[in-house]
Amino acid sequence: MRITSAAWTTIAVYALGLPIAAAAVAETAAAAAPTLPADNPFAAPSSLPYGMPPFDRIKDSDFLPAFEAGMAEQLREVKAITDNPAPPNFDNTSLALERSGALLTRVRETFTNLNASNSDDALDKLDGEIQPRLAAHKDAINLDPALYARVDAVYRDRKHLLLDSESYQLLMRQHRIMVSAGAQLPEAAKSRLRACNTEIAELMARFRLSLLKAANDGAVVVDDAQQLDGLSAADIAAAADAATKRGLKGEWALVLINTTTQPFLAELRNRALRERLYRASVNRGIGGSDDTTATIARLLRVRAERARILGFPNHAAAMLDEETAGTPAAVEAMLRGLTPAVRAGAEREAAVLQKFIDQQAAAAGRPSEKLQPWDWDFYSQQVRKASYDYDAAEAKPFFELNHVLNDGVFYAAHELYGLSFSERTDLPVYQPDVRVFEVFDADGKPLALFLADYFARSNKQGGAWMDNFVDQSRLLGQLPVIVNNLNIAKPPAGEPVLLTFDEVNGLFHEMGHALHGMLSNVRYRSLSGTNTPNDFVEYPSQFNEMWQREPAVLAHYARHYQTGAPIPVALLQKILAAVNFNQGYGYLERLEAATIDIALHEVTPDKAPAAKDIAAFEQDALRRTGLAFEPVPPRYHANYFRHIFGDDYSAGYYAYTWAEVLARDTGAWMHQHGGLTRANGEVLRDKILSRGRTREPSDLFRDFYGREPAVGPLLEYYGLAQPAEPAMDTKAKSKAKSKAKSKAAG
Ligand SMILES: [Zn+2]
Repeated sequence: MRITSAAWTTIAVYALGLPIAAAAVAETAAAAAPTLPADNPFAAPSSLPYGMPPFDRIKDSDFLPAFEAGMAEQLREVKAITDNPAPPNFDNTSLALERSGALLTRVRETFTNLNASNSDDALDKLDGEIQPRLAAHKDAINLDPALYARVDAVYRDRKHLLLDSESYQLLMRQHRIMVSAGAQLPEAAKSRLRACNTEIAELMARFRLSLLKAANDGAVVVDDAQQLDGLSAADIAAAADAATKRGLKGEWALVLINTTTQPFLAELRNRALRERLYRASVNRGIGGSDDTTATIARLLRVRAERARILGFPNHAAAMLDEETAGTPAAVEAMLRGLTPAVRAGAEREAAVLQKFIDQQAAAAGRPSEKLQPWDWDFYSQQVRKASYDYDAAEAKPFFELNHVLNDGVFYAAHELYGLSFSERTDLPVYQPDVRVFEVFDADGKPLALFLADYFARSNKQGGAWMDNFVDQSRLLGQLPVIVNNLNIAKPPAGEPVLLTFDEVNGLFHEMGHALHGMLSNVRYRSLSGTNTPNDFVEYPSQFNEMWQREPAVLAHYARHYQTGAPIPVALLQKILAAVNFNQGYGYLERLEAATIDIALHEVTPDKAPAAKDIAAFEQDALRRTGLAFEPVPPRYHANYFRHIFGDDYSAGYYAYTWAEVLARDTGAWMHQHGGLTRANGEVLRDKILSRGRTREPSDLFRDFYGREPAVGPLLEYYGLAQPAEPAMDTKAKSKAKSKAKSKAAG
């Protein structure tokens, strides 16, 4: 039951007609619900080890009846709570609510995973149908006035109940989720809240539609092939195709992607065309029939109003109340803490690029040009090639999948937490490439089941992710079943699986999430494992990435798959230097986008900027915070910032950076305490990884570290704490390093 603040916007969309009708809906549904036939594989808990879903018995047609029976069952369970003539107490209300919905959880977790990693048309179709129904179901519970009255009664009595700390937290969370949904409001306010939610959903849908059109209409059309100099033959063919699709025969169309920066900017030699492409990117959605700014202006106003109804000063405050950061001020303080060093890093990178431009101009005997945003990728690509390029084919034999997994990923988990992994081939999987490992604790006791689904398939979502098939819960007597998904290209049968350094990073990252799930040791399912806020959930995973680069782990896994020879030092140094290349730019564009996101969502309804003022509002926010630096534009401008206006991550763009601050700070703690040791692993396991959300994450971190998170280690990790390290001048390095130490300490 992952409920984050980002989720309530969507959930509430389907709250129309609720909550007054909720009880009635519950009764009808409960009365009319068919019972699930016993041969449906979800009808009873799985009898397989760890409650692993019986994949060999599950058919597509089993899901819908199981979902329907699962929702009906949970509504019956909730009705039994509200009908209980006994006065509300923790056991008959909170605990009963936590126990409810077992069948629905079983079918939902299996469906979500299979639909993401091994989908087909039937599952796709069912997903579209079932998501709104699941959202309405959640609302029927969260906005049920009778249920809220009981939860609230227990909540008001909480100080006298002598609850253990986990139970106390469960009650706090249940109450908080219902309050966030608006359960405590008088009817008039509820009705206005519902109207706001509906309008917000409509505005977000309109934004997505306009943006799609704006991106499409913004494609840059070229009628002279010579202008495309620098693009590959495949890219030119794709551009010709794109033009033909637009009815422009004999021309070329450069299609826009989501971010400010466009991939072709790195390749196009024609500077005027680069500028055209850049301007098309940043101006999409401004004016004309695809305008998004009017939608944004209205969205900001309605979000601000909704926050006020819920008792918050602004939308950012409402969203962040559920997160580790807690307040917009805390996010701003973290962003401001990173700004000087990140900006200095970007300025150093800009100086290197300007020098490169000057040298090229001098060599060609023409006047030099001032570095512009549309030049950055083009010249940084050339500097990268000159200084950091390595032959990926030369490196890959040192990163063979099984070596990386057993001698790197599993090895680090063994050294830190004492875990051992034993492959099982006797359990049914949903796809023959999926591998199953039983995970044992240091004392030999069973801990978890780990599924590794590493290969790309046409019916699998892109990217990499972790999820649960079964959540850990002592109350329910469940150990976790966890899956890691990657998208590694599968080689022909009999050939080794050789990885890039990025893919190795993906393995460590996803294992970090998996460990957060596997090491969970809590009573309540809803508080277990990765059921944590957005700005915390990426903390264990980004932390675990550090072992990929740690000499003690790297030396253990980076060996030639045929000869066993260790990776050559010079090659390794090039790989590591390439990782840190251009990080000043990368971090600055993200800090800018995060700052724009928070600033826009901190307005009150009467102070929300008008459509025509949004660009100026953004610039002002960047100037005030010292982030405005002309050659590095924000990763997204408001007019095409889909995360925050088209999706539900408003006031949430900072989250990944926040979690990484925690991760790198924890990495620094590990180094201060001796690195890869069981003692260090035990501390992290005890204080963070086993705790789920049994306490608020900010408290967990403070208890682990004894202070608030610090930004210095993140800057060090990416080489941004070091002043003056020009890409092609290594002499200044040793001096710069000693200075960096004192800076980070201060
Ligand atoms: Zn992640």
